[in-house]
Amino acid sequence: MNPERSFWRREAPVALLWLLGLLAALAALGAVTSQLAERHLRGDAEATALRYAEVVAATVPELQAVFGGQAPQGETLDQLRRLRRVGEIFRFKLFDRDGRQVLVSDDLDRAAPVAAAGPSIAEHQGARNQNVQDIVLGGRNFIELKSGAGKADRPPWYSEAYVPVLRDGRVIGVIEVYVDQTRAEAGIHADYRRVALTVAVLMLLLAAVAGWRGIRHLREQRHVEARVHYLAQHDILSGALNRASFGEALEQAVRRHARSGGAFAVLCIDLDGFKEVNDAFGHAAGDDVLRRVTERLRGVLRHGDAIARLGGDEFAVLQDAVTGPADVSRLAQRVVEVLAEPHEIHGRSVLCAASVGAAVFGSDAHTVPDLLHKADLALYRAKSEGRGGFSFYDAALDQQLQSQRDLVRDLREAIAQETLDLHYQPQYDADGASLVGYEALLRWKHPTRGNVPPGDFIGVAETSGLIEPLGAWVLKRACREAAGWPQALAVSVNLSAAQFRSDELMNTVAAALDESGLPAQRLELEITESLLMSNTERVLRTLHALSAMGVRIAMDDFGTGYSSLAYLWRFPFDKVKIDRSFTQGLGSDPKVALIVRSIVTLAHSMEIRVNAEGVETSAQMGALQRYGCDELQGFLLGRPAPAETLHHRGAVQAPPERPAPRPSALQDLVTQPMPL
Ligand code: C2E
Ligand code: MG
Ligand code: MG
Repeated sequence: MNPERSFWRREAPVALLWLLGLLAALAALGAVTSQLAERHLRGDAEATALRYAEVVAATVPELQAVFGGQAPQGETLDQLRRLRRVGEIFRFKLFDRDGRQVLVSDDLDRAAPVAAAGPSIAEHQGARNQNVQDIVLGGRNFIELKSGAGKADRPPWYSEAYVPVLRDGRVIGVIEVYVDQTRAEAGIHADYRRVALTVAVLMLLLAAVAGWRGIRHLREQRHVEARVHYLAQHDILSGALNRASFGEALEQAVRRHARSGGAFAVLCIDLDGFKEVNDAFGHAAGDDVLRRVTERLRGVLRHGDAIARLGGDEFAVLQDAVTGPADVSRLAQRVVEVLAEPHEIHGRSVLCAASVGAAVFGSDAHTVPDLLHKADLALYRAKSEGRGGFSFYDAALDQQLQSQRDLVRDLREAIAQETLDLHYQPQYDADGASLVGYEALLRWKHPTRGNVPPGDFIGVAETSGLIEPLGAWVLKRACREAAGWPQALAVSVNLSAAQFRSDELMNTVAAALDESGLPAQRLELEITESLLMSNTERVLRTLHALSAMGVRIAMDDFGTGYSSLAYLWRFPFDKVKIDRSFTQGLGSDPKVALIVRSIVTLAHSMEIRVNAEGVETSAQMGALQRYGCDELQGFLLGRPAPAETLHHRGAVQAPPERPAPRPSALQDLVTQPMPL
């Protein structure tokens, strides 16, 4: 939320209301004070008039006669003249019982001061105060404050008070007393103004304190709300947007795109080797790397771009205002570059490079989910092409990758529901008649794709992490089925190099043997050379441990890849399986025969049995027999078949003896790698 906008929306209206309230309070204070001052003046005027009326009534002889219309004379006239100006009183008028004016003090010097039919009180007041005459003739007072401004015979402020004159409880007339209140008005108003001012200052002070506290409270509330809002939108660890708000940012970009046509792109970023950093240095170091990655990404973004952390070590960037693919690839290259810089962790320099996949809205996708999906596919491609790379979304590859992902999903389901199957291919002694065992081969009948060859899904299982559960299932199943075969028959199970990555393999093999009751000597594990090319020490330890359990170890597909005889002597293999490409090349290339003979000679010199795979013709079988192979396997002798169709014809009586350990002198013969 923009803090400035929020101020105008939240604090400003409150401050304005507060100001208006204060002004209203001050205005009310002014009105009340002036009303009070007026009431005070009236009170003064009334008291003066009442006292005056009493004095007039008490001191003027023949007053009733004057009210009755007689002209005052002698002492009466003198007294009335004396009473003309007393204190603040500057005039009086007398009215008879009907309210008619009979005498005005200003006329007392005239020969005939009494007007028998002067104007009545009602006429004096006019429409303004219609019922004044009734009020005063009824025995009550009536006071009016007036301004004499502009009138020569009146002071600036004065009051006119009608006071009924009573005798024996009866109204005998009314006296109207004019009291000069100019001084009183000035004094009273000054007093009230002082009080009002003091109250106003106090009110202002209170209002200022309350206002200040109110605004401060609103500010704090705004900060709390802003923080909550921020946390709802961001990944707390890195400060980048979270998945939900990144989605919103993309939707906004889509709307902008619809309005103004500006293109934008999404770059999906995945850190290579982040897991290793976490494992090696701990989660705190991992968190630190994520923060630094976010900082570095911020450094290469422009205004309008956004960065989000979508999960673990996955980031995404919204690149705004894209004018073409060159823009996107420039940013992607920058991202790859800045993230390729090593991180200092505990004084060590650690690499955590990134792979980047990008897709452009409008050309690659037309919806946000599709755009993210395509950028993700591009990332998948970038990763599969090697670490620290960048790739654009490619529709053809999309198909391929999608199909691979579907395959992974289906394979996971097939493993879980155990819809995979094992077929067994017979392995014969060199005579081609004595059955010594079977090789277990995976079969997958996919509901829509039909039979998927293991070559098509073993690799997928290895890269998706499914090889462990899959391998465990194969071992279990093969051991269980082999336990039901004649005692002398062995079962060979293929192992993938990926199964050696965790320490689980030993337990899996032990569990499979345990559960099936199959003697370890009847289980053979086939591994390939590639396994020995990486992480050799650890693999060798595992192989030795398996061998110590009594399980036989065979090297499969020997002769393919970079075949080094050095691998052969580093571990006491029980068997070498010559790859079928050699068997099939026997008839056509004389060198192949030489190679096969050499392998057999060397293997035998190390007490290793030799199996020849892929025997399809009698000629091949004859040649392999001549070259001294110990075992034969191939379509000529039997195709892989389901367990329930096996007849075990020709099964030997006893399993082949495990060869004795080789003499160490032989090892010296083969210490050097020898490409075949
Ligand atoms: P592999 O271990 O070398 O298995 C022998 C392959 O050669 C099998 O193919 C088999 O059907 C085929 N084969 C046998 N005799 C002949 C022949 O005379 N002519 C020809 N052209 N082929 C023959 P498949 O079943 O397609 O298996 C291919 C590979 O898949 C296997 O090669 C093995 O590396 C792998 N694989 C199979 N099952 C498993 C398994 O359970 N786990 C692992 N990790 N890999 C497996
Ligand atoms: Mg094999
Ligand atoms: Mg093989």
